[in-house]
Amino acid sequence: MSGVPEVIGVLGAGTMGSGIAQLACLAGARTLLYDPDVGALERALERIPAALERGAAKGRWSADEASAAAGRLESIDDLAAFGACGLIVEAAPESVEVKRDVFARLSKAAPDAVLASNTSSIPITAIAPAAADPSRVVGMHFFNPAPLMRLVEVIAGLESSEETLAVARATGEAMGRRVIDATDGPGFVVNRCNRPFGLEALKLLAERAGDVETIDRICRLGGGFRMGPFELSDLVGVDVGLEVAKSFHELSFGEPRWRPSPLAARQVAAGRLGRKCGRGWYEYGDGAHRPDDPEPPAMGGGAGRLVVIAGDLPVADELRGLAAAAGWAAVDPVAADGEVPWLAVDCGAQPGDPPLQGGPLALLCADGSLHALDPGGGSVGFHALPPLDGGTLVELTRSDRTTGVAAERAEELFSSLGRHVAWVQDAPGLVLGRIVCQLVNEACFAVGEGVGTAQDVDDGMVLGLNHPRGPFAWLEAIGAAHVLAVLDALRAELGEERYRAAPLLRRLAVEE
Ligand code: NAD
Repeated sequence: MSGVPEVIGVLGAGTMGSGIAQLACLAGARTLLYDPDVGALERALERIPAALERGAAKGRWSADEASAAAGRLESIDDLAAFGACGLIVEAAPESVEVKRDVFARLSKAAPDAVLASNTSSIPITAIAPAAADPSRVVGMHFFNPAPLMRLVEVIAGLESSEETLAVARATGEAMGRRVIDATDGPGFVVNRCNRPFGLEALKLLAERAGDVETIDRICRLGGGFRMGPFELSDLVGVDVGLEVAKSFHELSFGEPRWRPSPLAARQVAAGRLGRKCGRGWYEYGDGAHRPDDPEPPAMGGGAGRLVVIAGDLPVADELRGLAAAAGWAAVDPVAADGEVPWLAVDCGAQPGDPPLQGGPLALLCADGSLHALDPGGGSVGFHALPPLDGGTLVELTRSDRTTGVAAERAEELFSSLGRHVAWVQDAPGLVLGRIVCQLVNEACFAVGEGVGTAQDVDDGMVLGLNHPRGPFAWLEAIGAAHVLAVLDALRAELGEERYRAAPLLRRLAVEE
């Protein structure tokens, strides 16, 4: 029974169920759709053929394929009709009681079918015992909107059989999705690996590293994310996000990285739930909730001035290349040969390097905050993440002693490289560095714990969540030493367990 079933059932005709039913009938299966709410069922039966026609108009498939797919879609009003199905995908509300109840009933109606849950947060192993045969239960986690997001996670519960997993994988592939394998644990692969995007942003907000708009703008412009973490939270629902955070914390018995944020709880208590109620982190009136992002400054203007860039991390190499392209005489300390530069940029000079000669200094805040790296000094702090061409923003930070000339020259240098600058509060990694290094760290924990492979994690984050690149691609670009430096400095300076580095990351840094 490991091929694609000829008849597929979908239970629940809401947002996800109707999208999954569309994929099933397009994949060639007779598709039976059930929902106890007759209104929801009727709406889905209007929505799916209309979406199929729109897809044909956009050239995604032919008009004939659309009408054939619509012809394979049927609604049923009695679970007993699921008896003909080889696979039933459940997309009922996210409640373990509801899921257990329907799995018990489905396994009576279709004793031979594979039963898949589209749950995003309930362990498959907690649903499976409700079925007569837990080995036939599996997770098939689609992403919203299901017809557009080309990913499905196939989640193995403790009892799922190989045959069951094979049916789920084959069906996902027939639906044109990239199938990734996940083991059963909080958030499976993709939602788990994305935890830090929201939680580290909330931590930064709590520390007043930047305000909501600044943190979001840095993620969009600096990191290339389509949306900042607070915009995303408003879209998903602040209350929905908080419930997911609570579930991670409970399932892990209190993992510090997954501790829910009191700031999110306060938003929920205030009824600021996001777009659905007109206000959340942003106000959603008639106009846009934020201004459009500006174009980056034009590149150029170095005029042959000397910039000495020290360090052998990838960020130092990329900065030297960019600065040279912008007309600076950009060299490392050896090539500077003792000449005093217009600006020295220290990206973690090595112990054997010649000292940076005089002039104002910009320090990369990777292995420490500006305060820790230059106590009492007049330098300016900055942080930027490779690949530098993946973003158009560099963050800067200053202390009470930062000299005006260091601050002005750092602004001038980065804007000549075609980058916006954002001033934020001091911390290792500043804003984007903290979020991305924690994304990489979480992915390293997940892979180290056997939740998924590095390739699956990367594909999952890009295809399921539209991230600009996966955490392992980011790790490759940034370098494990840089990521580890930020995490170790955060742990030392903030004294928090949530920043402990994954053993896999530490190993990669040694092997680099
Ligand atoms: P939804 O509220 O849009 O749809 C749920 C549907 O289930 C409704 O039409 C409801 O009438 C129906 N329903 C209620 N009780 C039922 C029952 N006992 N049996 C069958 N159907 C029942 O919800 P949704 O967003 O489609 O989410 C469904 C599932 O998919 C949840 O488990 C959710 O966690 C998961 N999921 C959601 C998203 C998302 O972004 N919305 C993404 C991935 C996974």
